[in-house]
Parts: sequence; C-alpha cells; structure tokens
Amino acid sequence: MHAIEAVGARLVGEQSKLFLQAPVPLLCLDEPGCILAANHAAARLLGRSADRLRGRPLITFVSKSERRRLVSQLAHMSSGDSCEFELTMAMPHGTEVSVLVISTALQDAGDGLRHSQVALIDVSHRKHIERTLHQAKERLDHLAHHDALTGLPNRYLFEDRLAQALARCRRHGWLGALVFADIDRFKYYNDTYGHQVGDSILVEAATRLTMSVREQDTVCRFSGDEFLLILENVTSRADVDAILAKLHEEFTRPVYGLIDLPLGLSASFGATMFDKATRDPEVLLKQADLAMYNVKRTRRNAFAFYSAQVDATAARRRSLEADLQAALAGEQFSLVFQPQSRVESSAVSGCEALLRWNHPTFGFVAPSEFIEIAESAGRTAEISAWVLDRACRQARAWMDLGFQFTRMSVNVSPHDVSSEDLVELVRRALEISGLPPSMLEIEVTETSVMSHPDTAKRVLSSVAALGVSVALDDFGTGYSSLRCLNDYPFDRIKIDQSFVADLPGNTETRAIVGAMVSMASNLGIDIIAEGVETEAQRRYLHEVGVGAFQGFLFARPLNAEGFASFAGRSDPPSS
Ligand code: C2E
Ligand code: MG
Ligand code: MG
Repeated sequence: MHAIEAVGARLVGEQSKLFLQAPVPLLCLDEPGCILAANHAAARLLGRSADRLRGRPLITFVSKSERRRLVSQLAHMSSGDSCEFELTMAMPHGTEVSVLVISTALQDAGDGLRHSQVALIDVSHRKHIERTLHQAKERLDHLAHHDALTGLPNRYLFEDRLAQALARCRRHGWLGALVFADIDRFKYYNDTYGHQVGDSILVEAATRLTMSVREQDTVCRFSGDEFLLILENVTSRADVDAILAKLHEEFTRPVYGLIDLPLGLSASFGATMFDKATRDPEVLLKQADLAMYNVKRTRRNAFAFYSAQVDATAARRRSLEADLQAALAGEQFSLVFQPQSRVESSAVSGCEALLRWNHPTFGFVAPSEFIEIAESAGRTAEISAWVLDRACRQARAWMDLGFQFTRMSVNVSPHDVSSEDLVELVRRALEISGLPPSMLEIEVTETSVMSHPDTAKRVLSSVAALGVSVALDDFGTGYSSLRCLNDYPFDRIKIDQSFVADLPGNTETRAIVGAMVSMASNLGIDIIAEGVETEAQRRYLHEVGVGAFQGFLFARPLNAEGFASFAGRSDPPSS
C-alpha cells in the first residue's frame, strides 16, 4: 500500500464511520496539501469518488484562478493555524462550486506528522444570491445614472461629471466648454412618423455626438431631444469652434432606413467656455442653453457661443414676454393693412392685416420677433382673438362705406392652427362684426400646418365650413410636399417673398414658381405672390399665370386711414 493511502486508511480507520458518514464534506490533508482521505459528502461535493481524490493534491481540484490563494493558505495551515477561507472548486464537467474551507490542524498520534482536517461548506447558493444582488444593484445604479434609450449618462450623472470637470479644470488650469445640442424639428418627426422613428433618431443622434468627440469628453442626454457635451482640456475657443463645426457637419448626413425617404437630420448647438475661475455649473448651463436657443431663434448659424449680446437678447425677450398682457389690454397693438391687387389691374382686391406693437421702451417691435415669443408663452390665442376682432370690424366698416373690397386676410399663429379653439374665435369675430364669412381669409404658414398635420386638417376644415377662405402663407419655405396640398381646404397659396426676390433672373426659382403655378391650377387653387417689389417681377408673375400680388411695388402696409385713401376714399372710417 502506498504510504499516503496507509496514513489515510489509518486516520479513517481511527475515526471510522464518524468521518466517513458525516453530513459535512470532510477531507484530511497532509502538510503539502495532498488529500489523505475524503468522506462520502466530500466525494459527492467534488463529483469524484473518494478513491479518485485520495493521494491527489487538493490544488488540482481548485479553479485555476484561485490556486495561488490556496498555496498561501496551505502555508498557514502547515504552521498549525486554524483558518477559514473561501475557494472555488473545479468540477469534472467544467462547472465550479464555491466552498467555505474550515481547517483545523491535527497531530497524528501514530507517526507524529502534522495534517489538517478540512470541512468544505458549499456556499454556491449564497454566492449566487450575492452575485445576483450585486448585478441588480449595478443595473439599478446604471439605470439611475443613464438614459435607458441611448445608454448615455443622464442629467444626474451629468451634474456630477460637470462638477468633476470644473474641479479638474481648477486643479490643472485647463480650459473647457459646455455644449448644449438640440435636434431640429424633432417634435415634427416624432409626431409625424411615430415614437419608434423618434427613438431611432435619438439613438442616432447619441451615436453621432459620441463619435465626434474624444473619449475623455462627456456626452449626456439631458432631456427629450436635448444633449449636453462637456469638452475638457481644450486649448482655445477656436478648438471648440472646430469641434462644433465637425458636430454640425456630422448632423447634416441624412439618416437612411427609418422612413421611405432619407430623413434629413440637423441640430443646433450652443456653447460656453469655462476656465479655472468658473464656479457655478448652473450659470454655465444657462449660458449654453441661451446660446443654443439663440441659434434656434435666429436660424443664422447651426452653432454659436454664449456672449453678453445673447444675454441682452434674452433680457429683451423676457421683458417682451412680461409686457404682452399690457400690450393686449392697452393701446400698444395696432393693425396695418397691406393692399393686394390682381396682377392685370391696379384696383385693390383685398388686404392683409399685419400686427404692429408700439412698445413703451423698445419702440416698434416687429411681429416676426414678438409672435414667436407669444407662441412660446402660450398667448397667441389672445392675440389672434384681438386681431380677428379688429380686422373683421374694420372690414365690415369699409364694406358698409361701399368699398370695392373682396377680402380681409388675417394671419394666425402655428399654435392656433393646432387647437379647435380657433374655429370659435373666427365664428365669434364674424358674429360680432357682422362680416360675411366669404370676406374673411385666414393665413396659415406651411410650417404650422406641418407641425400638427392631422389637427390642422380638422381645424382648417371646420374654419372652411364656416365659409371662410384659407390661405397657405410663405409657401415653399416649409417642408410640405406639393402632393399634400390637396388634403387641406386651401383656397389660395401665397408664394413666399424669398422666391419672388429671385425673379425673374434665377432659372431655378423660375422653374419652382412655374411648378407651383401649374400645380395650383391643376388643383383649382388661387395663387398670390407676396413681396413683389419691382415691375419686372410683377410682369413675370403675370406671364406665368399668377393671379394676384402684394408687395411694396403696389403698396406698403398702411394704417386704416392710409388704406382708405389708397383705396380711393376720402373719408376713412375708423375701426
Ligand atoms: P407674412 O404674413 O408673410 O407677411 C408679409 C410680411 O412681408 C410683412 O411683414 C410685410 O410687411 C412684409 N412685406 C410686404 N411686402 C413686402 C415687400 O415687397 N418686400 C418686403 N421685403 N417685405 C414685404 P411683417 O408685417 O413684419 O410681418 C412679418 C410676419 O409676422 C408675417 O409674415 C406674419 O407671419 C407675422 N404676422 C404679422 N401680423 C400677424 C398677426 O396679426 N398674427 C400673427 N399670428 N402673425 C402675424
Ligand atoms: Mg401672411
Ligand atoms: Mg408670408
């Protein structure tokens, strides 16, 4: 009999059944860690018979990654210490089992050699629970700090990252930039093509942003279609300028495969710089947001830096927003009327009512500036109600004076087109003024219709059902296709002045205007050109078949008296 087996046999013999049949897996090890004996429970646990275990070093049954640990534990054991440690055992079929090893040193009475008695407690189940809990915690942690859709850090993690970036910047004297990015027309895509397309756009945007910056930079999803980028350790503002240009460029590539056509993506970026003196992350965020907002509003560039000028614009905007109520209540708003004519004659066929705001501090404020402010403040319905009421009463007064006047056009805001309330506003204005519905025209812009295509269709059909005409303003500047014109109750389209300005010299514009005219005539829709400033433009429009026009060539917008005398009356009525 082999020496080891003899020792094992003696030990087992001595401890007999107690050892072999103990419910706990037990091993007897010699000083170098060889198995002298194994009981039934140990054989079961390790998946090998006691004979196959006996005489083999314990280390051969231990998972490779933990062998080094066992070696150091064996050193403890051989010095006679009792010890406890965890170990991963390798099972015959490649699986693993975690055990708690409890070892006690024993002196063999027979040969005086030291050996250890080792209990192996199966802790796999506990380990498994611990691991699952740990993974769940990590996942929860990730979810709490990351956006589920794009996987990017969310605004909570962003706050932490920005604070860290500012701290590093202070420590190393670095320069950095915070960039606010917003996807253009995201709401339109989301509403028109559904949330799945919207989600895919966000994921695509996240990828493009991440790919365009360095690994140490942070890209976060702030909210909705807003993203934030922290660019650290940049050398100069010009450096950031170049990154912004790259980001912008990256966003001009269309996205394929989301809808039938390539989907044109673009984004607006606002940036602000920070350095070692920057303390307040809130201020930084506000600056980047303002810069981005300014980009969106002016549409002059795709990206811009925050500046004092941006602050001044924001302050003016805030004042205008706060003063809207007073303007409506007082005498600050007024209407001017721009005459319209048939191209072949010089008689006034109608007019467009245009709103003017004479602000006590800023003086004259253009509607292109304040309508958009009213829009975001949710106050356009009050403005439209005011304009409809005044314009209808003025038209009725002129009609009663016997003006040869066919139509009063009134502009309504994008928000109004998306609300059923518009129908009631129009109905009430007609009722109060007594103006025949056929003498009123509502002008809606292409973009406002396209941002809520379905609601707009319903609202405009109800307006048309009152007997009021509906005109599509600024035609050609939005994104509607010529095909969808037929889906709406348009009586007229107004060719935008940007096209007219290019006539008659520009070949491409001539082709576009030609297509608009033939399409409108096929659909039986009238067509009018706005912004006509020269005789050459008028003549060209006449030649291609545009029926009516409006512009400085014929007349500038006039106050009520001016309009009355222009239309050939000496005793103008007041509204
Ligand atoms: P719009 O409806 O396209 O109005 C035409 C704009 O072009 C007017 O500017 C008008 O003064 C200007 N215009 C007319 N003829 C010519 C021309 O020959 N050359 C040039 N360069 N410009 C010409 P305005 O009055 O500043 O209005 C700007 C925009 O503000 C309007 O564009 C309209 O969208 C909006 N708006 C005006 N009044 C109202 C209103 O009462 N309600 C709403 N919601 N929007 C209004
Ligand atoms: Mg208009
Ligand atoms: Mg227009």
